[in-house]
Amino acid sequence: MTTGLVWDERFMWHDTGTRFGPIGALDWMEPIEPPESAPGKRRIKNLLDASGLSRSLVMLAPAPAGDVDLLRVHTQAHLDHVAAVSAAGGGNVARRFATTRVGADGEGIARLAAGAGIAAVDGVLAGRVDNAYCLHRPPGHHAETDEAMGFCIYGNAAIAGAYALDAAGLGRIAFVDWDAHHGNGTQAAFWTDPRALTVSLHQDQSFPPGSGTVEELGAGDAVGTNINIPLPPGSGEGAYLAAFERIVLPALHAFRPELIFVPSGFDSGGHDPLARMMLTSESFRRMTELLMAAAGDLCGGHIVMLHEGGYAPHIVPFMALAVFEALSGEKTEVSDPFLPALAGNPWQALQPHQDRAIAEAEQAGLAALLAR
Ligand SMILES: [Zn+2]
Repeated sequence: MTTGLVWDERFMWHDTGTRFGPIGALDWMEPIEPPESAPGKRRIKNLLDASGLSRSLVMLAPAPAGDVDLLRVHTQAHLDHVAAVSAAGGGNVARRFATTRVGADGEGIARLAAGAGIAAVDGVLAGRVDNAYCLHRPPGHHAETDEAMGFCIYGNAAIAGAYALDAAGLGRIAFVDWDAHHGNGTQAAFWTDPRALTVSLHQDQSFPPGSGTVEELGAGDAVGTNINIPLPPGSGEGAYLAAFERIVLPALHAFRPELIFVPSGFDSGGHDPLARMMLTSESFRRMTELLMAAAGDLCGGHIVMLHEGGYAPHIVPFMALAVFEALSGEKTEVSDPFLPALAGNPWQALQPHQDRAIAEAEQAGLAALLAR
C-alpha cells in the first residue's frame, strides 16, 4: 500500500497558550499549557522520522480550506467569530467549556488543518496514495456547525467528508471515530444526511457531557446512519475488537461506503490523562488492519485518517507508529516499550458489563441501519 502523510510544520504553531479552560489570572491556578499542544504531536512526526518510516510515505501538502469548503459544515457566523477573535490577538472561541483557544492570527492555521483532509481525499481519489493520515492540529471532531468545542475550531473530518461528497462526487462515505470522546461534531454535520454513516466508539458519558448515547440515530432520511458505541470507562482491547466485529464491520458492509474516514484519537489508549480507556499500540494496529480489510472489500482500500486527541506524549507516538505501519505495510524495528505491561493487564479482555454495552449499541444503532 502507498500511504500519504499530510503534514505541515505550521500545524505545530497553533498556539493554545497557557490558560487552560475558564481559569483567570487571579483564579488560584498557575498558568499551564493545555493538554492539546504541539509537543505531543511533534513527537509522532519525530518517531516516524527516527524509525525511517517517513521515507516510505508520500508527503501530501495541504492548502488552507476556503470559505466554500468550511461553509459546507459551518455557518458564516462561526467563521466570522473565529476570524474576529484571531484578529484581535487570540483567545477562547468556544461558547461552552472555554477550552478552545485560537492564537493571534491563528485562524489561518485552523484553515490549514481543515484543508488537510481535503488534500488527503484528493491524494487518495487521484490514485497518488491508497490511504492517508493527516497529522494536523487543531483537531476537529467536537466542532459543531456554529460552535467551536473541546480543542476543535473547524470540523476537519466533516469538512473532508463534505468535500468528498459535494466536490469530489462520491455517493456514500463512512466515519469510524475511535477517539475516546464522542465525535459529536461529525455526527451533527451529517445528522440529516443519508450519504454519510457516522460511527463513534467512545468512553460513555465523557465529553461532551450528555452526548453520544445509543439513542442518537440521525434524523429524517438519515435515521439509521448514526451509530454510537459508548463503552464503559476501563474498556480495553477485548471491548473494542468485539465492537468492531459485532457493529463496526457489519455496519460498513451494510452501508458500502466509497471512502472510509477515521477521526483518529489516541486518547482511547492506556496512560491518557483525559480519558480512562486501555488500548495499546497493538490494539490500534489491529483496528487499522480490520478497517483496511473492510476498505479492501468495499472501496479499493481507501482510508483517510485525521488526527484528533491523544495526550500522553510518552506513549502516543508508539500507538501512531503502529497505525502507520499497518497502513503502509512497512514494519520498522521500533518496539513499543510500554506494550508488555499494558497488554498484560488481565482487564484487557471483554468484561460482562462491556459486553452488555456493546449489545445495547447493536440493538439500537446497528439494528436501525440494517432496517433502512
Ligand atoms: Zn478525545
